[in-house]
Amino acid sequence: EALANQIAAGEVVERPASCVKELVENSLDAGAKTLVVQLEEGGIKRIRVQDDGHGMDEDDLRLAFARHASSKVKSSRDLFRIGTLGFRGEALASIAAVARVSLQSRMAGSEQGYGITVEGSTTKSPVTPVGMPVGTIIEVADLFFNTPARLKYLRTVQTEQARCVEVVQKAALSRPDVRMRVLVDGHVLFQTTGTGNPQNVLATLYGVGEAGQFLRVEGQTPDYRVLGYIGRPTQARSNRTHANLFVNQRPIRNIAVHQAVAAGYGQRLMVNKQPIYALYIDLDPGLVDVNIHPHKSEVRFSEERDLTQLVQTIVRKALDEAFL
Ligand code: ADP
Ligand code: MG
Repeated sequence: EALANQIAAGEVVERPASCVKELVENSLDAGAKTLVVQLEEGGIKRIRVQDDGHGMDEDDLRLAFARHASSKVKSSRDLFRIGTLGFRGEALASIAAVARVSLQSRMAGSEQGYGITVEGSTTKSPVTPVGMPVGTIIEVADLFFNTPARLKYLRTVQTEQARCVEVVQKAALSRPDVRMRVLVDGHVLFQTTGTGNPQNVLATLYGVGEAGQFLRVEGQTPDYRVLGYIGRPTQARSNRTHANLFVNQRPIRNIAVHQAVAAGYGQRLMVNKQPIYALYIDLDPGLVDVNIHPHKSEVRFSEERDLTQLVQTIVRKALDEAFL
């Protein structure tokens, strides 16, 4: 049973960043408007996520670490329906199988919260009352403490930290209406305002001063609606971590769309430079086929040519208009 849990865990929790992703998604699913993410030693030593979402009651806490405890999505097609990000109720169980986890939660209207601690799938302390604000606090310490092979597979603390931060950056861009603060080893790395404007989030994340530095692009095909904010060519970076693509608010990757953005910049982009952008693609998941593996982020679009042509065109047009 413990071994089965550890094996299953490997599918969900590959590294600290995958852990952060699951925790942040849970907070967003709980309707959080404010989220604080703390990382220590690249998330390997400690990940702490606090939210002001709807919280869990005593019974929820007891069940939270049971596999398939999800009340949410049931099939991969449902992934792109607006609503919840949760998939199969495996995340908390998987994380608890390979770390020391403390989970505390208080529901709105409840006098107090409750806490539980679990280590490698074993309950260390049962559900007990705790004083805390409404919402949920989850701490994941000593990730992979009981699976040394996985621990060895991790990269440097800086690399793992960067991946964790990137996960929250994408969450912040996908939900500009939610305030998010990231602390790394006790220092605030960034903080978004939750005003709902993606341009403000982009300016916060990439430190390019005014939000107005980003150009708005917009258009649609029969299947897709595209809205985006693209950085000036001079702001282009040497890697692709500042390329942000979302489908129905879910961060995804698609090389063809990324290439279409770059093609829209054309000669304006220096060799080996990648533009900063956030592109939001919306579609009707009942009508359009988007293929995605539940734990991977690379997607395939149907009618991809229509989409990439639109993206290239609107990017080029926006740049042409801004820089005659
Ligand atoms: P899933 O998100 O797929 O349902 P998880 O293992 O991630 O599965 O979480 C299990 C359950 O625990 C969730 O369905 C939800 O009810 C509850 N939960 C987890 N995190 C939170 C949170 N931050 N706030 C409120 N409820 C939560
Ligand atoms: Mg979840």
